[in-house]
Amino acid sequence: MTLAHPVDLPAAEADLADAVGAWLRENLPPDWLAAVDAGDHAAVERIRADPGRRAAWFDVLGASGLATPTWPWGQGGLGLTADRASIVTEQLVRYRAERPNQDFVGLTLAGPTILEWGTDEQKAARLPALARGRELWCQLFSEPGAGSDLAALSTRAVQREDSSWLVNGQKVWNSYAHLADFGLLMARTDPAAPKHRGITYFLLDMRTPGVEPRPLKQMTGNAEFNETFLTDVVVPDSARLGPVNQGWAVAITTLMQERNGLSGRPVVGQGESDRLVGRALTTGAWRDPLLRDRLVSAFVEERALQMTTIRGFVAAGSGAPTAEGSIRKLAHATLSEKLGVLGTELEPDGAVAWDAGERPVAVDAFLAMKTYSIAGGTSEIQRNIISERVLGMPKDPDPERHKPFQERSRG
Ligand SMILES: Cc1cc2nc3c(=O)[nH]c(=O)nc-3n(C[C@H](O)[C@H](O)[C@H](O)COP(=O)(O)OP(=O)(O)OC[C@H]3O[C@@H](n4cnc5c(N)ncnc54)[C@H](O)[C@@H]3O)c2cc1C
Repeated sequence: MTLAHPVDLPAAEADLADAVGAWLRENLPPDWLAAVDAGDHAAVERIRADPGRRAAWFDVLGASGLATPTWPWGQGGLGLTADRASIVTEQLVRYRAERPNQDFVGLTLAGPTILEWGTDEQKAARLPALARGRELWCQLFSEPGAGSDLAALSTRAVQREDSSWLVNGQKVWNSYAHLADFGLLMARTDPAAPKHRGITYFLLDMRTPGVEPRPLKQMTGNAEFNETFLTDVVVPDSARLGPVNQGWAVAITTLMQERNGLSGRPVVGQGESDRLVGRALTTGAWRDPLLRDRLVSAFVEERALQMTTIRGFVAAGSGAPTAEGSIRKLAHATLSEKLGVLGTELEPDGAVAWDAGERPVAVDAFLAMKTYSIAGGTSEIQRNIISERVLGMPKDPDPERHKPFQERSRG
């Protein structure tokens, strides 16, 4: 059976799920499928951890269009609406055949932004490679002086006579930049314009001389973050995404996709709360009625968020995500912190002392629980967006907004 073209895809939801399931059963490597059928998650993770096998599978998956089902046919996707694509996602998750978190920037941010703003050449060069998992992407937005107020960024790009750009500056908090092939780069190209109007957006080849990511160790002990130094980096004009000085509009596409994508996958089912309930049953913490009550309410919240995410996808249809994504991102951030704390309360002894090299999952989850309340825009910023764009309240005051960037008073 082939899923090579949208017309081959059944219209009814149940039939679509069956068709995707059947395709996965036909195409997944036999030992992978056997491990899924046996519920042996550890065995699947071992297969997924093998770089060669992972790459081979993502190539097969990408060629079918199932890795990026909303992208147009001919550009790496199947042209499905967001709600139909969520049925595909559900099947991929079920077979643990989906692309990993590391590909979030490439699939969720870079692809849709290139689709909306890219030239035909940029689409042809990047989208099929992204769909097949051949490129890892990072996001070079935040700077030491520009996070929530991203438009205050000061990395500078100056156009040269041959139309290429010379870029100098520093970015920070760039996840996986040390491994990435390409970066989504925002740089200031007109300091005489107000801050939102003098920015240009580039697709940066991370192997260009002068690009230097330096890993930053986090409190989890991992070092997937980087500060990225850009020194006399020459970027061809063909790498510019969208018009000169209109990079803010391009970035809005990326940021909307990011918020929409940071509330979890549009799949109802096993989540972090299920894992915690299982853990509570094992440790005996489930017998504590107060803890049990909090676990059940977190479980209900997680399911409600999953269902709201699906509703958001259905409402979006084939359209771009809206500010409504900020509501789900905020809810996800709050829930993530709640689950992080609950996890340590289920096993308080293990959470403060453990054997070297065997850190409990609860500790990892606790140390990472703030991720969603900061990444992709903090919870305070999501509240601002919700109040302004969803509830129609007055804008957050910003006296610098209309001043030329170079005349602003804040550093
Ligand atoms: C896990 C993770 C991954 C990340 N990955 C990337 C990445 O790949 N690429 C990238 O470019 N960046 C990345 N970031 C950076 C992230 O986008 C920024 O940290 C975030 O936008 C906040 O910026 P800041 O850290 O400069 O905080 P600041 O903007 O300095 O904010 C400090 C505090 O002030 C509050 N605040 C600021 N302005 C307002 C306001 N107007 N109203 C109310 N409160 C306000 C904030 O909510 C926050 O509590 C990542 C961050 C995390 C945690």
